[in-house]
Amino acid sequence: MRCPFCGNIDTQVKDSRPAEDNVAIRRRRFCPACAGRFTTYERVQLRDLVVIKSNGRREDFDRDKLSRSIRIAMQKRPVEPERIDQMISGIVRRLESMGDTDIASKVIGEIVMEALARIDTVGYVRFASVYKNFQAADDFDRFVSELRPADGEG
Ligand SMILES: [Zn+2]
Repeated sequence: MRCPFCGNIDTQVKDSRPAEDNVAIRRRRFCPACAGRFTTYERVQLRDLVVIKSNGRREDFDRDKLSRSIRIAMQKRPVEPERIDQMISGIVRRLESMGDTDIASKVIGEIVMEALARIDTVGYVRFASVYKNFQAADDFDRFVSELRPADGEG
């Protein structure tokens, strides 16, 4: 696994343990080149999903992108990170069992909003208010920057 800090490919696993109620293995990794530490997760992937954007473009589904947008919406909310991970796994599992590997970005957004609404109203409102402006835009990086709370704390 390549070090995200310096690019060295020879990193070491220091610790492995089950996570997210045993649906994932969490590994703490160490990079001897730069002494950087990072974490990776190993998960079952049932299917390779493709996101169909509203402009018709196709893109491989990226769990990290999804996770990033949800974490930003949940920033500073009193919800355990573990619970958020479980929610994300639940969303992915649901997407994977939808019967079709091609999934409209709109459907993903709706599923995320539904899941957020169940665990935290503020996170839901943050996500939903930004998401609505971007249903047509599909510009994920802009989406994330809009989602970032503009209170100067983050
Ligand atoms: Zn490194």
